[in-house]
Amino acid sequence: MEKIQADYLVVGSGAMGMAFTDVLMTETDATVVIVDRHHQPGGHWNDAYPYVRLHQPSAFYGVNSKHLGSDHVDTTGWNQGLYELATNSEVVAYFDQVMQQQFLASGRVQYFPNCEYGEAGSFKSLVSGVEYQVKCDKIVNATYMNVTVPSIRPPAYEVEDGVDCVPPNQLPRVQGQYSEYVVVGAGKTGMDACLFLLKNNVDPSAIRWIMPRDSWILDRANIQPSSLEASTTASVFAQQAKALAEAKDFTDAFDRAESSGALIRFDPNVWPTMYRCATVTHLELDQLRRIEGVVRQGRVIKISTDEISLEQGVIPTNARTLHIDCSADGLQTREPLPVFDGSQITLQSVRTCQQVFSAAFIAHVEAAYEDVEHKNELCSPVPHPDTDVDFLKTSLANSLNTARWAEDPELSNWLAQSRLDGFSQVQPDGYELDEATLQQLEEMQAVGRQTIENIQRILAAL
Ligand SMILES: Cc1cc2nc3c(=O)[nH]c(=O)nc-3n(C[C@H](O)[C@H](O)[C@H](O)COP(=O)(O)OP(=O)(O)OC[C@H]3O[C@@H](n4cnc5c(N)ncnc54)[C@H](O)[C@@H]3O)c2cc1C
Repeated sequence: MEKIQADYLVVGSGAMGMAFTDVLMTETDATVVIVDRHHQPGGHWNDAYPYVRLHQPSAFYGVNSKHLGSDHVDTTGWNQGLYELATNSEVVAYFDQVMQQQFLASGRVQYFPNCEYGEAGSFKSLVSGVEYQVKCDKIVNATYMNVTVPSIRPPAYEVEDGVDCVPPNQLPRVQGQYSEYVVVGAGKTGMDACLFLLKNNVDPSAIRWIMPRDSWILDRANIQPSSLEASTTASVFAQQAKALAEAKDFTDAFDRAESSGALIRFDPNVWPTMYRCATVTHLELDQLRRIEGVVRQGRVIKISTDEISLEQGVIPTNARTLHIDCSADGLQTREPLPVFDGSQITLQSVRTCQQVFSAAFIAHVEAAYEDVEHKNELCSPVPHPDTDVDFLKTSLANSLNTARWAEDPELSNWLAQSRLDGFSQVQPDGYELDEATLQQLEEMQAVGRQTIENIQRILAAL
């Protein structure tokens, strides 16, 4: 067994492990060992379908110290008018550069790809079988979010021999051999698979979309740096805060959030029960709405050669149909753990659906604060949402964290400098916020307390 020494052992070189280590590199003199079973950094982006793109602008994804993309505003396609979205290969190449040119070049990081972590600082090379033991002060678990994409596991339902059922990764290999497509799952991956088919001129009537739950969706136009002329980010968040502060009850909260433009839905006649931070543009939504073959009969139980059994019914299928499994959980709702617990640091979201920002924020708190209780207060986890109720729960947890952070001038200053903070920074380097945006941000802060109290009241009444 080889022995290694470092201040920190980071398990996982996905986006969270990378964003955490990056802040340690810039704000401390610490040495770090990074271990991952993948052959290169980037985590699940290595396994993603080839046509995936970030769901949010590149402008605030990655690590704090390095820009991702060129702040280009798309002029074509269904994201036109909005900031560019990196592809998975761009994301993976970016993290590789961060690793090679920054982390390893610093001489303070040792990186062990192709290694399976065990416990108590031990891991083993999947290639050579060599075993390692790390002596360190802190172990950082950057795997707890347990991201699962369809290509790394079999479907959770039964698939009979002879049925063509593939993960979305296989779609670019299709060569006209199918007359129908069944997309299983209506989360963001299902939406992306439908958009891939539509972009390739598959007739919408040839697509059936199995949608066990409808989803409240975020409009990507609202998640843009404020420098974008068409950006509505600050005003929509101000309106959302006001909507949640004034809502009479649960239904009214969603009616108001929808009227403010903060939330959208696929079918205005169906009340969504899912909320997982899926993001689309209105142009993408218009495309998705061309699909009329939406199957709302629960989850798939079994696909056989001539029928698909669902929780609430059966629909026909045949050998000329390709079934695309988009049912993996992506980000699960994990049990919140204390982020700082003795020598363990467990990376979790501290701002809803902003995992990389959260990892960088936690690293800053680790670097800048001593008292563990205070560190945990600042880093109260905001579990990944799943249901409509979770929209309110995560809005509440988010608002509570934001209010705590605003009381600390040092933290507020750090947030304003952080390129991963898409909400308080929201502008590329050197851009000055205009008067109207500043006023909207102030309004949002002013209603903060009222928003918190009203969401608490609505949740208590459920
Ligand atoms: C399709 C898709 C699009 C997304 N788009 C966005 C977006 O636009 N913006 C956004 O903020 N978020 C987005 N997300 C959320 C995304 O999950 C996070 O941004 C982030 O990539 C999660 O990184 P992670 O480090 O937590 O997880 P992972 O990427 O899963 O990294 C964890 C790493 O730990 C390693 N590991 C686990 N266990 C072990 C072990 N025992 N030994 C060794 N290594 C181990 C794994 O190999 C992996 O490399 C998206 C997610 C998906 C699925």
